[in-house]
Amino acid sequence: MNGGPHLVLRESRPEGTQVPLGAGLAVGGSPFVVMAGPCAVEDAAQIADASAAVANAGCPVLRGGAFKPRTSPYSFQGLGAAGVRLLLEAAATHGLAVVTEVLEPADLPALEGVALLQIGARNMQNFALLKALARLRRPVLLKRGPAATIEEWLLAAEYLLDGGNDQVILCERGIRGFEPSTRNTLDLAAVVIAKQRTHLPVIVDPSHATGRRELVIPLSLAAAAAGADGLLVEVHPRPAEALSDGAQALLPAELDELMRRLIPVVAGVGRELWRPPARRRAVGR
Ligand code: PEP
Ligand code: MN
Repeated sequence: MNGGPHLVLRESRPEGTQVPLGAGLAVGGSPFVVMAGPCAVEDAAQIADASAAVANAGCPVLRGGAFKPRTSPYSFQGLGAAGVRLLLEAAATHGLAVVTEVLEPADLPALEGVALLQIGARNMQNFALLKALARLRRPVLLKRGPAATIEEWLLAAEYLLDGGNDQVILCERGIRGFEPSTRNTLDLAAVVIAKQRTHLPVIVDPSHATGRRELVIPLSLAAAAAGADGLLVEVHPRPAEALSDGAQALLPAELDELMRRLIPVVAGVGRELWRPPARRRAVGR
């Protein structure tokens, strides 16, 4: 065999992979899954308010960083294990699944109960971390590195599958370009290419891709139209007070607006928006 990707390729599983995150919830099937929450867990009130906003909008998964990979050592580094506990508590109140980042294998004992373990963009080629999560066989969200080619991204996913874990969701979060008006450049072609080349679900993070709140709804709609399987979106109850990434956080009302506007776009590509069972018949709510 050559050194290229193999297990992740669509030919090895033409029907596609679904990654279950809880009862009645999987990514990679027909339902389009929106994961939302703040960049970081900051305190009990902030994550409780964020969790309520996410549940009210009808999203099934709460995000929030506790082990944070910050560009500067002087920036807020996250609450660590205590943050994970607050996140799980806030999510449980509303019956939400949780996605949060694992920075290194030593974080894992604190991450019991987390439905989806995120490998951050900067760690996409941290091969020791990939091998550790492959052995764990729990769902993994693999973000594309800011300077990684699609091939490198798929090979990072190949490490997980080769190690025995096929519960992998890919996430495009923007790559480094020359254009300064956005934080990164959202590569929607990569979403289409990854969907064509692999059997793994692919979601889009329009928040880190753009860095700007006013771009998040339009690019989320574009991602859905391009065939993404879901979104990872930052939302904060009080973005002006956020300890990280406030400028790209949606307000709770904007998350509601995003969910409303996704309904026809998702329907246009032959699938449906994942909504709590009680709301499925109440179209537009
Ligand atoms: C995040 O989602 O919390 C994050 C840090 O994103 P990225 O790794 O894509 O920069
Ligand atoms: Mn962030």
